[in-house]
Amino acid sequence: MEQSQKTHHIAILPSPGMGHLIPMAEFAKRLVKHHPISVTIIIPTTGSPPKAQLSVLESLPENIHHLFLSSVNMDRLPKGARPEIVISFIMQASLSSLRDALTSLKSRNNLVALVFDMFGHDSMEVAKEFNLFKFLFFPMSAMALSFTFMLPKLDEETSCEYKDLPDPVKVPGSVSFSGRDLMAPVQIRTDEVYKGYLLLSKRLTLLDGVMVNSFEELEQETFRVLCTGAANQTPIYPIGPLIQAGPDPTNGSDPDDCIKWLDNQPDGSVVLVSFGSGGTLSLDQIHELALGLEMSGHKFLWIVRSPDKVSNASFFSGSSKTDPLGFLPEGFRSRTIKQGLIVPSWAPQIEILSHKATGGFLTHCGWNSTLESVVHGVPMIAWPLYAEQHMNAKIMTEALCLALRAETDENGMVRKEVIEKAVKELMEGHEGKKISKRVKELKGAANKALNNGGSSMESVCTFAEQLMK
Ligand code: UDP
Repeated sequence: MEQSQKTHHIAILPSPGMGHLIPMAEFAKRLVKHHPISVTIIIPTTGSPPKAQLSVLESLPENIHHLFLSSVNMDRLPKGARPEIVISFIMQASLSSLRDALTSLKSRNNLVALVFDMFGHDSMEVAKEFNLFKFLFFPMSAMALSFTFMLPKLDEETSCEYKDLPDPVKVPGSVSFSGRDLMAPVQIRTDEVYKGYLLLSKRLTLLDGVMVNSFEELEQETFRVLCTGAANQTPIYPIGPLIQAGPDPTNGSDPDDCIKWLDNQPDGSVVLVSFGSGGTLSLDQIHELALGLEMSGHKFLWIVRSPDKVSNASFFSGSSKTDPLGFLPEGFRSRTIKQGLIVPSWAPQIEILSHKATGGFLTHCGWNSTLESVVHGVPMIAWPLYAEQHMNAKIMTEALCLALRAETDENGMVRKEVIEKAVKELMEGHEGKKISKRVKELKGAANKALNNGGSSMESVCTFAEQLMK
């Protein structure tokens, strides 16, 4: 489509990985569908783009364009750097090609705004040079945003590591968290990841707005406090729950025939077990999980990865280097042949959650997975691993009534008896029924929020009006 000078144009800059691209692309789709706005998604790269990324970008409507920034040279990055460091490095190294891209976009369009995520906040300075509105796309919960708003004050008032704080930290509009449950980026205050996140938190009040991938009905009190409290200078837009629509771009096919297997199971009988795009467990923990599932007697579909000491070892690949099935306890597969399906590394999670046979979800509490479960009305068992998942698990179990908790023992292990009990409780117990009822209500609320007149739809309209003023 020929870009009219009148059509407002915005640039969206997701950081590498699918976890942010997908909700940001969904946001772009909603924006252009209902408003005279066009979008360019600007993609940082380190080589040729992954197939999954291309498949998302190529499926977008014609008023959402995309362009790739020049490939970043990764030689200066220390070997074995953690995912957060890698992503921040790529975003930082892409700033100069971002300038070139914005120059070119501005010469052809009525470019008015730049939207970036938490790893892209240095691009705020670039947006200023181009006189653009600066928006943060926050792909986590309103609770995590509320915590981020309070971080500068917490930093000022605290001299020790947060994990050593004697008292829990109360997040405005949400619950209290022990220091060690706070999100991973704030766990080591001397670390450069902490410094980067603190800088982001200080920049929040300089933004023209923050879009949050959550919805008012899910986190009512937190949004109320966010919109009237510390953040009242910065417009907050609850625009979720935005999850991938259409076929799974990362694995369009279903080589393990999960869906066919689910077709043959009774309604609501299967527990999906999945630890996100990169979650990994230790060998001992895999064994406990296997035995716990078996002991529960309930059907399960387990997306299994090879063991690793690091809990997000498969973050960039999403798959294991070795065959994960070789790490299961002896005889487990033959004993559970009728009870469960084991899928190595990756499966179409949204399709599984939307299947009528799926009745529960044992999840690592990644925010995308949580929203996907809510959208499909599936009650959860919370088993957090890394990032902000411990905080998510706490609100999911204590504030939002979305999940039961799989508690760890003093060695950080979730024992087979705990897994057995949690699965049974979720699938047949009183608490499970309560959670299931609440999640089903929220499924309806999520659907409403995104449709005409719904809270998130209205938020997108307010955002568009702010752009077009
Ligand atoms: N996912 C999937 N298949 C898998 C594992 C994960 O499709 O086997 C998708 C899942 O549906 C979600 C995303 O990967 O959209 C994981 O995002 P989340 O925020 O839950 O966790 P993260 O991977 O960022 O830890």
